[in-house]
Amino acid sequence: MDQQYQDVLVIGSGAAGISLALRLAHRFKVAVVSKGALTDGSTLWAQGGISVVLDPEDSLEAHVADTLTAGAGLCDEETVRFTVRHGPSAIDWLIERGVAFTRERRPDGTLGYHLTREGGHTHRRVIHAADATGYALENTLAEEARTRENIALFESHLALDLITASKLGLSGNRCLGAYVYDRTAHRVKVFKARFVVLATGGAGKVYLYTSNPDVATGDGIAMAWRAGCRVANMEFVQFHPTCLYHPEAKSFLISEAVRGEGGRLLLPDGAPFMQKFDPRGELAPRDVVARAIDHEMKRLGSEYVYLDIRHKTPDFLKQHFPNIYARCKAFGVDMATQPMPVVPAAHYTCGGVVTDFRGRTDLRALYAVGEVSHTGLHGANRMASNSLLECLVFAEAAARDILEEAEAGPEPSGLPEWDESRVTDSDEEVVVAHNWHELRRFMWDYVGIVRTTKRLQRAKRRADLLTHEIEEYYGNFRVTNDLIELRNLVVVAELIIQSALERKESRGLHYTRDYPEPDDSRPPQNTVLTPGNYREDGDWVGT
Ligand SMILES: Cc1cc2nc3c(=O)[nH]c(=O)nc-3n(C[C@H](O)[C@H](O)[C@H](O)COP(=O)(O)OP(=O)(O)OC[C@H]3O[C@@H](n4cnc5c(N)ncnc54)[C@H](O)[C@@H]3O)c2cc1C
Repeated sequence: MDQQYQDVLVIGSGAAGISLALRLAHRFKVAVVSKGALTDGSTLWAQGGISVVLDPEDSLEAHVADTLTAGAGLCDEETVRFTVRHGPSAIDWLIERGVAFTRERRPDGTLGYHLTREGGHTHRRVIHAADATGYALENTLAEEARTRENIALFESHLALDLITASKLGLSGNRCLGAYVYDRTAHRVKVFKARFVVLATGGAGKVYLYTSNPDVATGDGIAMAWRAGCRVANMEFVQFHPTCLYHPEAKSFLISEAVRGEGGRLLLPDGAPFMQKFDPRGELAPRDVVARAIDHEMKRLGSEYVYLDIRHKTPDFLKQHFPNIYARCKAFGVDMATQPMPVVPAAHYTCGGVVTDFRGRTDLRALYAVGEVSHTGLHGANRMASNSLLECLVFAEAAARDILEEAEAGPEPSGLPEWDESRVTDSDEEVVVAHNWHELRRFMWDYVGIVRTTKRLQRAKRRADLLTHEIEEYYGNFRVTNDLIELRNLVVVAELIIQSALERKESRGLHYTRDYPEPDDSRPPQNTVLTPGNYREDGDWVGT
């Protein structure tokens, strides 16, 4: 028997998971499982910062209004208000834990937090720790988690499926724990818990080019889907317009703050082009900028465009963008004297597991927090720096709910061990490697920044085929890390394609040449997919 029991199982240790664990540890025993090292995840790489109203000239109303505008009619206004309202206290909580946000001296001589401005925001409202906000946040919180007696950390542990009452034929639609693959011991363990939280982040790895780290394979979305939860708005994938173009940079991101400080986008011949696409120029929302770059690159057959910030002094750049400056320099690009070659890459998954204000999913005792979730905050397009805010605010809300529900959840018992009696070791690892590549390639080519119905249908045929192959493989062979992730990626791909096919309009991040305008004949609708419409063998049977 290899069974763990804690009150709460948190799957994922980014901003969402680790902050939630810290908020529960005074009362509960919490297990945090993380498939890589504790700090692996998108949070570590966040550069820009966290949007929050701190400037007296700014207002909560303005933050709400900007978020609603970016979301192109699909934000849930109540969720936006809830998130924005809880922003300042979330930042106070981080400051109390020791996150060292950048300060500046004000004209009256006092010290305050420096706020930067990013696309879509009408005010300076992004608090940051130089250009490595996520690094400061993740490391500070992870450090604290390591010292807390009530938090048990399991690194290199990959959750592969949720254990639910209904799957075991028990009464009540409740989550009881998860099967977790220990990547070091190559063994699947049972983690039992009264409450389970998915904080597994996004799914950027479903695309060939992404700013996301390797762990971003949409595992939480796929696990929740298989467990019967609804998933919404998966067609809205944000492509970050500016990743460094360099064969070894692995999509190193050049923060939007560089454009916020006046960085200009140029064609390879040095001509500016953004004004042609949007009067806001370089500060237009990300989708507009990414589409403009995609358009110009395709028109010219160019592999990249340039981002030019040479009007700032080297001292300014080193002080404001120390991380970007150093990384670019290491790749042979001096941003003080040269324009930086940049390309777009998949960056943020706006859709996810449907939750309410408390992070609750459709399944009792299962919560989803952070990028894995769909709370209604982002609508059809995430405004820059609203995502870390969402992680923190909803982690707090979910923690509060779990504390209130404390007595409700019984300790699960009698959960079956992982059954390996009918599988053997794979003799054809090449199938997994091949399908990983094929999936990410066709998602990039057919389900990327600019879509058409024909391309989506082409992608769907391929995804259906891969689903069958992978499920067959999964049924016959012992699980491995790559197989578990691939199985999840293909589910996520299917969800994105299906959602994109269902949206017969262009809105926010979803742009299709077949329906290039928003459908104004009816109120904007979320694309909500329900697992009942998805057969066991993987075929879509319609909504
Ligand atoms: C390069 C980059 C820059 C960004 N900049 C900003 C910014 O400036 N401001 C902003 O607001 N947002 C930014 N974002 C987005 C933001 O960083 C993410 O949305 C946010 O960090 C997500 O946090 P999370 O806790 O939900 O997930 P993550 O931080 O991605 O953490 C996910 C965790 O889940 C674990 N995990 C995943 N699957 C499993 C599994 N099956 N089993 C066990 N563990 C699992 C991972 O190992 C990891 O610990 C940026 C994103 C990137 C990639």
